[in-house]
Amino acid sequence: MRTIDVDRSLCDNHGQCAIAAPEVFRMNTDGVLEYEPTFDDALLDEVEEAIDVCPVQAIFLKD
Ligand code: SF4
Repeated sequence: MRTIDVDRSLCDNHGQCAIAAPEVFRMNTDGVLEYEPTFDDALLDEVEEAIDVCPVQAIFLKD
């Protein structure tokens, strides 16, 4: 398993991460980001893509 953190003070809730890695990131019905803090290694490529496309670099891979 791997772990991520999202800096909510940076996140603008535009949802690019949810498009790149929908198994880990999603926008709730209020348009606010929800995410899985831990995810399977098999999703690492998708999560790295989400990190790359986040316009404010709010997603951090912790381990
Ligand atoms: S792409 Fe970045 S700014 Fe946009 S919702 Fe995801 S974490 Fe937030």
